[in-house]
Amino acid sequence: MVLSILRPFFLGLYHVFKRTFTVKHPYETLKPPERHRGRLMLNMDRCIGCSSCVKICPNKALNLVEFNGRKLPQYNAGRCCFCVLCVDICPVLALSMTHEVEYSVYKKEDHIYPPDRFSQPPEPVKGKIVTVKTLDKKFGVKHG
Ligand code: SF4
Ligand code: SF4
Repeated sequence: MVLSILRPFFLGLYHVFKRTFTVKHPYETLKPPERHRGRLMLNMDRCIGCSSCVKICPNKALNLVEFNGRKLPQYNAGRCCFCVLCVDICPVLALSMTHEVEYSVYKKEDHIYPPDRFSQPPEPVKGKIVTVKTLDKKFGVKHG
């Protein structure tokens, strides 16, 4: 009985002295893994407007629009579930996943990427980029 009352106290104390894994975002950003699935990017020069990506997308996150006399995909990052089906099916490798992790917006319309915006590379990450240094079963994760 007494032990069960004291247990949360000691557990709390243990965590006070345990090495922590806290990334002070936005001052620090954890480096995404090499195969991280960030928001999509279009290579306009490659795209042939075949609409295969539009047809396969399960979330209707892509649609073809008129752009400078061509049919090109427009992307809605708010609908995307990062399944990569569109990237895999594109016959000319015009789509790729970026490492972009910061694309939160205040208005849902800002999630729409018309072809010109869709083909822009991500903004450089602000603040310090940190990587996972140690993964220790006893002490947890350490970064720096
Ligand atoms: S990654 Fe998946 S959900 Fe996102 S646009 Fe491509 S097919 Fe659609
Ligand atoms: S991005 Fe690829 S799959 Fe989509 S319309 Fe262009 S060429 Fe076709």
